[in-house]
Formats: sequence, structure tokens, C-alpha cells
Amino acid sequence: MEFSSKLLENAVYEMSQLPGIGKRTALRLVLHLLKQPEERTQLLSNALMTLKSEINFCKTCNNISDTEVCEICANPKRDETLVCVVEDIRDVMAIENTSQYNGLYHVLGGKISPMEGVGPQDLYISSLVQRVKEGTVKELIFALSSTMEGDTTNFYIYRQLEGLEITTSTIARGISVGDELEYADEVTLGRSILNRVPFESSMKAN
Ligand SMILES: [Zn+2]
Repeated sequence: MEFSSKLLENAVYEMSQLPGIGKRTALRLVLHLLKQPEERTQLLSNALMTLKSEINFCKTCNNISDTEVCEICANPKRDETLVCVVEDIRDVMAIENTSQYNGLYHVLGGKISPMEGVGPQDLYISSLVQRVKEGTVKELIFALSSTMEGDTTNFYIYRQLEGLEITTSTIARGISVGDELEYADEVTLGRSILNRVPFESSMKAN
């Protein structure tokens, strides 16, 4: 792509570093911003800078939060014996949208993927094991996407919990293999949490 301006080229380059944004889309977005009043761009860049510098991650579950402990963990009406293990914050949002779940979460920050160089130490797995050891949690619900990486991660965590008093279950596979959790419709996702199955029996089915 040939640019008549170095400034334009830089802006397009930076925009195209975002996931799912190719050079053409980046150019379209940058030209759109150029046409808008200057304060639009100011508001956008301020929001992003503030987000980056001031955001907190809940010290208990790693959910994004404006406070040290997120609203879900801090809510006394939630069932603290139940923890749903998810890959990222989008999964928390998807499950919250179903209004079918009243427990807490643990956000791993990804899943084990040797192909992408992500190992257990890169994820919030040891803090999860620590949470279980503290004794309040009675059941972990694995709600990772049913991909090879998701299964590997579930199994790794399951092994880490051996000898601890905890029930493990996995969301019912109404969600077809390979589907990402965030794209499942609310009814299906809500039902799959209510109809969860013991983790051991899900392994035998595979
Ligand atoms: Zn939290």
C-alpha cells in the first residue's frame, strides 16, 4: 500500500496491529477518524490510555474491575462455594448475560497451547489451586471452549487438584466442539451450565 503521507502510514500501521484489522480496514478507520471533529479522536485515545493505566484485575478471580475486588466477588448474594473456570473476561460476560449462574468465576487468561507457546505457568492456574486449598470452594465448573487446548487445560487443572476435596464438573456439551463460548447463544449457554456433568464422565465420553 502506497501512502502519500508518513503520518497517515503510521496511523494505519498502528491500527492494523489490532486483531482482525487488515491494512484496508485500518485505512478506512483512520480516514473515518480524520473526518470526525478532533475531540472524537481525543475522547477515543483518552479512553484507551485511561483504560490501560487505571484498570485493575480482581485479586481473587482476575476479572477486569475498577476496584481491587470485582463486583461479582464482592457480592454477598453470590454462591462462593461454586467457581466457574473460564478462559477470559468475554466468557464471564457471556455467562453473566444468561442470568442462570450465581456462583463466582476464575479467569485463567487463556488456555494451555504448546503451539502458541502458552504453558500452565503463563495462566492463573496456581492461584486457582490456591483458592481451592483455602477450602470455601466446593465445586469447580470447567467452562473452557471444547477444543484440544481447552481439554488439555481442563485435564491439567484436574490433575493439579488431585487429593483435594473438590467436585469438578464441565458444562454440558450442547455447545458443539470447537465453538467459542462467547458466541454461544444465551439460552444454550445457560442450559449447559445448569445441565453440567461430572468432569470424570466427560473424559470417558471423549
Ligand atoms: Zn473477582
